[in-house]
Amino acid sequence: MAGNGVLVVIETSGGQPRPAALELCGAAQAVQEALGSATALVVGQGIGAATEQAARLGVARVLAVDAPEFAEPVAERVARAVLVAWEQLDPALVLLPGTTLGRDVAALVAARRGVPHLVDVVALGVTADELMVTRPVYQSKLLTTVRASRTRAAVVTVRAGSFRPPEPGEPVPIERLPVELQEPDRRVRVTRMVDKPRGQVDLESAPVVVVGGRGVGGPEGFEQLAELAELLGGALGCTRAVSDLGWRPHYEQIGQTGKQVRPKLYLGVGVSGAVQHTVGMQGSETVVVINRDSNAPLVKQADFAVIADWNEIVPRLIARLRERRGRSA
Ligand SMILES: Cc1cc2nc3c(=O)[nH]c(=O)nc-3n(C[C@H](O)[C@H](O)[C@H](O)COP(=O)(O)OP(=O)(O)OC[C@H]3O[C@@H](n4cnc5c(N)ncnc54)[C@H](O)[C@@H]3O)c2cc1C
Repeated sequence: MAGNGVLVVIETSGGQPRPAALELCGAAQAVQEALGSATALVVGQGIGAATEQAARLGVARVLAVDAPEFAEPVAERVARAVLVAWEQLDPALVLLPGTTLGRDVAALVAARRGVPHLVDVVALGVTADELMVTRPVYQSKLLTTVRASRTRAAVVTVRAGSFRPPEPGEPVPIERLPVELQEPDRRVRVTRMVDKPRGQVDLESAPVVVVGGRGVGGPEGFEQLAELAELLGGALGCTRAVSDLGWRPHYEQIGQTGKQVRPKLYLGVGVSGAVQHTVGMQGSETVVVINRDSNAPLVKQADFAVIADWNEIVPRLIARLRERRGRSA
């Protein structure tokens, strides 16, 4: 059998942990009984708060790589940190977030160690001899099970939204891991970083997601939904029918061929609830829908449904929320 334990790589950005990386601590819990305890490796600069957060998420140890040369998202440098941690821990499994950086780092690390690299994983399991992962294929139309022998370690990238971070508990020790970069690690330099437009909440980690479907009737209606999302401190999403019609950009699409969301509150407006949509939101804690058809599939799945024309409900909701905001301001 390969090594022992799970190495969880916590990617940071501006010192903050990426939400998809914290979810890896939940993924590690699914396999640590079979593979051994998890160690979180936090990489970046000014990551004190991120390491403290990771230390409470069910791992046995935290290793911190905190230095100016790790401030920027350069895959070669993060990969070096992972390889140094690997030397120290000899893990059976290495988990990385399925982010742009995480995917690059995972490929580099797997190639340098000569081990299998399993990508875009949404579920993990372990038998006596094999690591078994589930991953969507053919634009998420099918789920496949991929098996890797446990005679070697494996590197796995996990799709955002597939696991929940564990409830924070008592913190475990944080240790500094010294990492010396080698010349090739310095070849790539970041010359400029461009921020997202201000005020945009990340759809995949938003606590509230307001989703508009074809029933919204056109792009103008989405201006109201965007305001509603903003008043609720959430993000705006849409169905494929809407992005296909060009009413909203594709990056807001939720579902089989879009993003996966697991908000505390999902509010669907004029959304029928086709299965290709609901696979992207089924982990939502509370589902509320506004639809004029009481037989729509999403109405049947929802925790609360308002059977009405959205034009009668959304403006009143916005007015009430604006009023509340005014009162608390
Ligand atoms: C391979 C494949 C992949 C797909 N991937 C995705 C995906 O990732 N995401 C996705 O969303 N879809 C996906 N789809 C499409 C999916 O099958 C549905 O067609 C789509 O989700 C329907 O979008 P909708 O609910 O906005 O529209 P509709 O199904 O047209 O529903 C509109 C709803 O609005 C209601 N409504 C109408 N007017 C009002 C009003 N004034 N007030 C209140 N309610 C009103 C109607 O009663 C209806 O329930 C995929 C399809 C295929 C074949």
